[in-house]
Amino acid sequence: TLAPELKDTSPENLLAPVLSAFWDEDRSWTLDVYKRHEGYEGLRKALAMSPDDVIAYVKESGLRGRGGAGFPTGMKWQFIPQGDGKPHYLVVNADESEPGTCKDIPLLFANPHSLIEGIVIACYAIRSSHAFIYLRGEVVPVLRRLHEAVREAHAAGLLGKNVLGSGLDLELTVHAGAGAYICGEETALLDSLEGRRGQPRLRPPFPAVAGLYACPTVVNNVESIASVPAIMNRGKEWFRSMGSEKSPGFTLYSLSGHVARPGQYEAPMGITLRQLLDMSGGMRPGHRLKFWTPGGSSTPMFTDEHLDVPLDYEGVGAAGSMLGTKALQCFDETTCVVRAVTRWTEFYAHESCGKCTPCREGTYWLVQLMRDIEAGKGRMSDLDKLNDIADNINGKAFCALGDGAASPIFSSLKYFREEYEQHITGRGCPFDPARTTAWA
Ligand code: NAD
Repeated sequence: TLAPELKDTSPENLLAPVLSAFWDEDRSWTLDVYKRHEGYEGLRKALAMSPDDVIAYVKESGLRGRGGAGFPTGMKWQFIPQGDGKPHYLVVNADESEPGTCKDIPLLFANPHSLIEGIVIACYAIRSSHAFIYLRGEVVPVLRRLHEAVREAHAAGLLGKNVLGSGLDLELTVHAGAGAYICGEETALLDSLEGRRGQPRLRPPFPAVAGLYACPTVVNNVESIASVPAIMNRGKEWFRSMGSEKSPGFTLYSLSGHVARPGQYEAPMGITLRQLLDMSGGMRPGHRLKFWTPGGSSTPMFTDEHLDVPLDYEGVGAAGSMLGTKALQCFDETTCVVRAVTRWTEFYAHESCGKCTPCREGTYWLVQLMRDIEAGKGRMSDLDKLNDIADNINGKAFCALGDGAASPIFSSLKYFREEYEQHITGRGCPFDPARTTAWA
């Protein structure tokens, strides 16, 4: 088995990929190639079990949601009420758009059948006969590839009526969004899928109780569902032997920024950024790490003091961040923190759906203050104002977008307050005086 190798997290033993095992193979996205790599074996094993046993099996594997929050996948499936007479839906959230996050799109592009197999298993378990993939609208080549993979699966009897003679009828609809970050939030996504403007709903009720068309709905991330076939095929013990007790298994880490070899790195949960940098050739030559995000910009940033924090929900959580999407954006000493946070803040202000006042108004004011500070027009009192505005957004909106906007403000002021002060006392950006536009 792969497990003992993966337990040993020395760099030479980390590259035993599962999800990305054959991404570089010719026509890796086709059913033929997928079948040569254990494709649809997990489904056969699942169909030999009862739906409830499949749910229990996934729960016992310890798989946690890979979309950012880490909610236990099997537990989410178990929430779906059975015998309620209502249709149940599975909706796969493929609207990946957190800044720095870029794992689901390559996975779908290179290996769409791992998702389709996971969908069939999940629908069998939760007794759903209609699943949806909500795909980020900009990625048209992925949309085409998904359509083709669904067509292949239908032709092979893996979708449609009586899947593999099991009695399961399953339709799979691929839906492309229109490029709004907010539609990655699960309830806004459901509104959008129903044909309305995508805005978050108040939770509870969670989608498991009242989701798509007010029916019980599982909303899962692409990587979460695509991880299920290997768990069913190779076993929950195999999965649990990787990673940590509370965050088992393997996952995709997306390394970007000032690193020598950016890209997707598949490794066990609980690996550290230092180990990932060792695998990927480190920072670009001659430079050192200054700050980084564990999971996209909405997770509080870390510094080089945190290189050895385990990248799982406990390690990162204990150190004061969230794991999030495992999008490791690495910035070296040439980067202006104020500039980076300004860009992120502009993103959140632009993407705020406007439904909740603290987020709609607060992100606007954060941008004004950040732009002023960056341009050398800030005042020392602005730093408290930034904290205050972020505090008034955090936890006070329907969804996590506002929290995401507040998070880089809090963490950059915590670790790099001096750099903000330099912009204010020096009346401009010490990294790039050309950006000091408005003071003179
Ligand atoms: P959450 O913790 O509120 O919920 C996570 C999941 O668990 C949801 O599906 C929710 O329905 C379910 N859940 C939670 N409590 C439940 C309960 N009591 N009963 C039934 N179901 C329950 O997190 P969230 O607000 O959905 O998402 C925030 C996360 O999204 C962040 O961690 C962030 O990293 C991530 N994110 C990802 C992207 C991306 O592009 N992948 C973009 C933005 C944010």
